[in-house]
Amino acid sequence: MTKQRRAGTSPEMKLRRELHGRGLRFFVQRRPLPTLRSAADVIFPRSKVAVFVHGCFWHGCPEHGTMPKSNSDWWRAKLTANADRDARTVQALEMAGWAVVVVWEHESASWAADRVQEVVSTRREVDP
Ligand SMILES: [Zn+2]
Repeated sequence: MTKQRRAGTSPEMKLRRELHGRGLRFFVQRRPLPTLRSAADVIFPRSKVAVFVHGCFWHGCPEHGTMPKSNSDWWRAKLTANADRDARTVQALEMAGWAVVVVWEHESASWAADRVQEVVSTRREVDP
């Protein structure tokens, strides 16, 4: 749950490398919409696909999300606020015509890249 990860080994970096290796071209750490406070980890502006890589703890992964025992009220408020913000972000993007792919840090980079690639290719068919 540390925010400091070694460059090149974080889930974001692994995913980026995987996507890049498949010939996909994208931007990193950009806000898909100017009105949005959060940046997406990877965005494909032309196909309007935004990818968020979520830490299992901070974003309350259904498989690994845990609630710390000490200071539990503070943590509950903090983690609930994160989840609310995530939901609002997805909603705002979808309303603006974007597709959102949420990747959990526990997912393998190649499996996550499969999902992203699938969404991007679908969007390209619709939106040449
Ligand atoms: Zn997880």
